[in-house]
Amino acid sequence: MSASTILSRLPFDKNLIYIDGQWTAPQSSQTSHVENPDVAEAIATVPECNAHDLDHAVRAAHSAFHDGPWVNEYSGAQRRDALLALATAIEENRSDIEMLESLNTGKPISDVRMELDDTIDLFRFFAGYADKVEGRHIAAQTNRNLEGYTVKVPVGVVGFINAFNYPICLLAWKVAPALAAGCTVVFKPGPQTPLTTQYFAHLLHKTGKFPPGVFNVVLGGAEVGQALVDHDLIDKIGFTGSVATGKQVIRSSASTKNVRSTSVELGGKSPGVVMPDADLDKTAKLVVSGCMANAGMNCNALTRLWVHRAIYDEFMPRLKAAAESLVLGTPQDDATQMGPLIDRRQYERVLEYIRVGREEDKAALLAGGQATLGRGYWIQPTVFFNVDPAARIATEEIFGPVLSVLVPFDSLDEVIEAERKNEFGLAAGIFTRRHQDIAKFTRKMRCGTVWVNNFNALYSYLPFGGFRNSGFGRELGYESFDGYLASKAIIDDITY
Ligand code: NAD
Repeated sequence: MSASTILSRLPFDKNLIYIDGQWTAPQSSQTSHVENPDVAEAIATVPECNAHDLDHAVRAAHSAFHDGPWVNEYSGAQRRDALLALATAIEENRSDIEMLESLNTGKPISDVRMELDDTIDLFRFFAGYADKVEGRHIAAQTNRNLEGYTVKVPVGVVGFINAFNYPICLLAWKVAPALAAGCTVVFKPGPQTPLTTQYFAHLLHKTGKFPPGVFNVVLGGAEVGQALVDHDLIDKIGFTGSVATGKQVIRSSASTKNVRSTSVELGGKSPGVVMPDADLDKTAKLVVSGCMANAGMNCNALTRLWVHRAIYDEFMPRLKAAAESLVLGTPQDDATQMGPLIDRRQYERVLEYIRVGREEDKAALLAGGQATLGRGYWIQPTVFFNVDPAARIATEEIFGPVLSVLVPFDSLDEVIEAERKNEFGLAAGIFTRRHQDIAKFTRKMRCGTVWVNNFNALYSYLPFGGFRNSGFGRELGYESFDGYLASKAIIDDITY
């Protein structure tokens, strides 16, 4: 399937939104363009929902939760089978979805294929939890006549707000565990990347296994996102995005009529540490992919690199070569390894940070530093070195292909001490075979994931999330499934 044919034969009407089990014309007449960032050209027009459309979606999810069969009649095994059918539907249509995702995000097609592997695996993994919801029997402790036990119940109607950077994969991170737990969902994708969410809604509908109102989509930006957070019938908000918006979401979540559980997955400025015994060739490549994957638009991207003084001079040429060898080009070509930035705003933001690095932070440039390919939103893989750990480019989230190699360090304690000041706590990595250093680093780093001799590996079965300004709550793993359940205690007087 070529890039242009996929758009001409989408199996859903992109002017409609999926609410209450139907493709519906939104009340809002506003629309927005969706771009192909490779060439900065519009490829589709989609609706922008208003507060009325949002209210329609939330009420549908609310009545599906309280009165519909998904929660009140289906067994866990039926929900499991629905999710397995959905995984199969995604698998059968994966080449279309991959092409659409690559076209709308500019991601290299080889990366999107891995993301689809993960998406399908996530639905199967969380399907496996749907029939394993368990409470506890708690033996009578103080009164022999009172029998106590807990049951786990779904938290209710979940409102999801997603970032643009992994449209289908982050959808799966959120939607698969929530549906497995028996929740109902209103989902808003990033405004730049709605197309694969629409495709997903089409497949979910086609399985015939999800009753009306269980999964609903609203499209648009901040306005409809804010309306979702403000809606009184929402029981939980799951948000992925920037720190500034995340803080706004937390404030708003506390201002609704009923307070609600909120999970926020925010930004990062993840450090990596290269110790003297590291394999320098291997590590240079791992650092470059750790930073530049998804053109650096990764919350967990390795953007602060600590290199030990003993190997600094030996390591820098290898790092430069690894950054400069990345293949940039048409994202739908198999050979392409890095794509463009998502939109003009992100492109200009990254170029501005490169200017800050040069002019304000006075950092030395090792590789890249410029726009490239003469089209779209392309920026070269960029590496600064000898960067002050407190410099702006070393402390602020850039969300682009920009790595700051900090001034050389002499002891791991120095790194650990400096990282206490890191505003973020999403991930960190270390490259060494020394057990003492690995143990010290994994114990001391206050972040949700620590990679040892690898970077960026994520699995459906391991939790992911942050400390400090990287947010709270966990996605993936049992922890994420459990986040969509609440414990209810039952106390039974057996003498009555
Ligand atoms: P963003 O904060 O601009 O937008 C995120 C989402 O929030 C979008 O859907 C947007 O429309 C919506 N939104 C905007 N204003 C809102 C409001 N007032 N109320 C409710 N919703 C609102 O972020 P972005 O630029 O789309 O994504 C990039 C950010 O996401 C980066 O900071 C990145 O680190 C973070 N991110 C974090 C994770 C993680 O798991 N920790 C994963 C991916 C991305």
